[in-house]
Amino acid sequence: MAYVYDFTQGNKDQKDLLGGKGANLAEMTNLGLPVPPGFTISTDACRAFLAAGTEPDGLEEEVDAQLRALEARMGRRLGDAADPLLVSVRSGAKFSMPGMMETVLNVGLNDESVVGLATRNGDERFATDSYRRLLQMFGSTVLGVDSEAFGDRLDELKAARGVASDAELTAEDLRGLVEDFKVIIREHTGADFPQDPREQLRRAIRSVFESWNTPRAALYRRQERIPDDLGTAVNVQAMVFGNRGETSGSGVCFTRDPATGEPGVYGDYLPNAQGEDVVAGIRNTIPLAELARLDRASYDSLLAIMEQLERHYLDMCDIEFTIEEGRLWMLQTRVGKRTAEAAVRIACEMVAEDYIDRDDALLRVSGHQLIALMFPRFAPDPDRHPVATGMNASPGAAVGRAVLDTETAVAWAERGEAVILVRKETNPDDLAGMLAAQGVLTSRGGKTSHAAVVARGMGRTCVCGAEAIEIDLVNRRFQVRGGPVVEEGDMISIDGTTGEVFLGAVPVSDPDVVRRLEGEEVDDPVAVSVARLLGHADGIRRLGVRANADTPEDARRARRFGAEGIGLCRTEHMFLGERRHLIERLIVADDEAERQEALEKLEPLQRQDFGEILEAMDGLPVTVRLIDPPLHEFLPDLTDLEVRVALEDERHEEDRRDHVLLEHVRRLHEHNPMLGLRGVRLGIVIPGLFHMQARAIASAMADRIEAGGDPRPEIMVPLVVHERELTLVRGELEKVIGEVSADRGLDLHIPIGTMIELPRAALLADRIAATADFFSFGTNDLTQTVWGFSRDDVEAAFLPAYRDRGVFPVSPFESIDVDGVGKLVEIGSRLGRETKPGLHVGVCGEHGGDPESIRFFAEAGIDYVSCSPFRVPVARWEAARAVLARD
Ligand code: ADP
Ligand code: MG
Ligand code: MG
Repeated sequence: MAYVYDFTQGNKDQKDLLGGKGANLAEMTNLGLPVPPGFTISTDACRAFLAAGTEPDGLEEEVDAQLRALEARMGRRLGDAADPLLVSVRSGAKFSMPGMMETVLNVGLNDESVVGLATRNGDERFATDSYRRLLQMFGSTVLGVDSEAFGDRLDELKAARGVASDAELTAEDLRGLVEDFKVIIREHTGADFPQDPREQLRRAIRSVFESWNTPRAALYRRQERIPDDLGTAVNVQAMVFGNRGETSGSGVCFTRDPATGEPGVYGDYLPNAQGEDVVAGIRNTIPLAELARLDRASYDSLLAIMEQLERHYLDMCDIEFTIEEGRLWMLQTRVGKRTAEAAVRIACEMVAEDYIDRDDALLRVSGHQLIALMFPRFAPDPDRHPVATGMNASPGAAVGRAVLDTETAVAWAERGEAVILVRKETNPDDLAGMLAAQGVLTSRGGKTSHAAVVARGMGRTCVCGAEAIEIDLVNRRFQVRGGPVVEEGDMISIDGTTGEVFLGAVPVSDPDVVRRLEGEEVDDPVAVSVARLLGHADGIRRLGVRANADTPEDARRARRFGAEGIGLCRTEHMFLGERRHLIERLIVADDEAERQEALEKLEPLQRQDFGEILEAMDGLPVTVRLIDPPLHEFLPDLTDLEVRVALEDERHEEDRRDHVLLEHVRRLHEHNPMLGLRGVRLGIVIPGLFHMQARAIASAMADRIEAGGDPRPEIMVPLVVHERELTLVRGELEKVIGEVSADRGLDLHIPIGTMIELPRAALLADRIAATADFFSFGTNDLTQTVWGFSRDDVEAAFLPAYRDRGVFPVSPFESIDVDGVGKLVEIGSRLGRETKPGLHVGVCGEHGGDPESIRFFAEAGIDYVSCSPFRVPVARWEAARAVLARD
């Protein structure tokens, strides 16, 4: 088995085997570019090493053979006393992990070869500088000496010599430094720096292998979702020297600006330096353009190569180079990372330049990047400092008065104030407050806490777990630990993209991209390009996109964003505020007459709600979900009420109403509300509620028809687990619709479908489909019940630990668990369609707006996803990318 490949043997498509750096070094070599020769030890070798804890059989011999070939080619031997060959030993995994793994330069120098190098080049300073760099890099990466030990010594020396930069140290200074570094190594490791060049090489290679498994590399991979089992390749390459005086230097450059995407080269250069100095920020670099002044010939050849590379890779390239005494050497290239803005701009300009077509352009901008382009933002200001920082739970920028509870949030919002809801943590009772607020700030909980999940679903900005904040509800204020006191009503600003909290009102704006996608005329080129690409995406995708919307405003916004209907219109938000009392009365009613009265009062209100939404979505389907949550969510909290009643009793001023209420709250109290009396179960136990809603929907439809509209409501029954539930409820709903039809002299056709959100329903979907006109997978509840996770309980308790311990790379509530929940979605839709070919199948729930999940749904043959209005463009985008990625 071959473990080692010469640069002339590979190409850019072999990243699995050679790592990104090795594959691209090979590609550049074969393009005839000036690349110092070398060879790549494959990721196979690394994996074998990591599995066995030692070099695999044959590796040693192969490296030897390759090294001899390299020596022959260069006419020098590694570490030779008179004329040494020096090499770099460079890590390079399949996916770039900047700064995470090791690289050692100048391998092969020792007490003898440093003299040879100096004599041969007639430059003692350069040779000694290279040696001190080897001691420093080898010492810290291979031998594990704290790198500060070297850095501190270097700083002391510079201070003693009164110089600002290492480039000003003399050969003699550096000779002293070499001796000092050797002492540091001996003191820290108990052994001398290895003088044998072959041993240096062997240990450097080993240490690159091992650097794959350092905790920081593992953490980086988890964040970037890079698999843990890839391993890294190792590149051994002949050294070229940027530290040979003023006609030498090292630099990095991009073929376009990675921050803005602007055309024109962009980069940094450092004269008289080896490459690691550029990135480490040891000295101030100069802009690449100034190289034109220092060394016109090298600058011109660099520019020509940059153009050649961009044409070859058909993408923006990120390049590392060194100039040795006026001669240019290419040391690395890769397709460069870029901001979301730059991604769009570069992709579209490359279409215009005929490098790529529109399909490629779409593939180059991820759904996540589009999301990033859509969040409102604060204008940048270096003088602004946060008073606290939490987790960036739901991006965006929100400004408003701090309010400490939901009631205040709702009341102030009603009188037109912008508010930020500040809570220790939120619970389902805070929904109204969150809806009323511009943003949510909590002092506890992580990125999957209730506040975070709900805020993301609603497109509200959220910073959670800002632990420095201590809320004092008694005095209506919060204290920032070690900082100011903020009174309720004070203006604050929160940045959900960075997790920062500011005092006062920081100016914000909707980005041009959003304004353009909503149909406004703007001429920002990125916004125009996004809109154009989105139009292109619509021509490619097969997945439909609807929105989750409960209000006419949301429906209108969703429509502007291109929603093809509403896939989930929740009705429980319609029972907040004033109407909550009606539900309360309904629940505590003594007799049927009282219950009827409450229902009769609710019906016209609901009818109006539905009418407005149907109007906003005229001509498009609106799927209304019948009331779903447990009813006690509409009643006061049990403990609060018990305290209130106890106090009243004590004062002998008992309120009969509170006593009755308490009785009912106790009756309805559940240990597991999520698995309790909710969804279709309510429709079976308290049928009046569903009837009222169906009558309101049918009447609203009739109203719209009479007004000349084209209403298309659909009724969706939640939490069905057995086909009998649906047949029972369906019969009654049809009866109500029939009555309204007869009353109004219209033939109202309203499809009745069901949510599939329990495992049993998915497994027996063929039976349920017999009575259902459509399915909609509720992937939130399905995830809870498949995993047996009660979301609000597990998020804080152990989801983070599960992520860290690698049970899953990302919470299954954020991105669909393809293996489990996804399998049930596939089974459910297949079984449903076995009974009813062509059964319309949708997905509603947070996953409908998550790029990876959208991709899965598109591939699973789902008809449409329904997501928050804000995510509609993302779903359109990602659905097209799913088609392109597969073709
Ligand atoms: P990273 O992956 O952290 O960028 P590299 O392996 O690219 O690490 O090495 C960092 C820098 O070291 C390079 O940008 C280059 O300037 C320098 N370097 C690496 N190999 C050589 C070499 N053979 N000759 C001269 N400089 C080198
Ligand atoms: Mg590099
Ligand atoms: Mg549900």
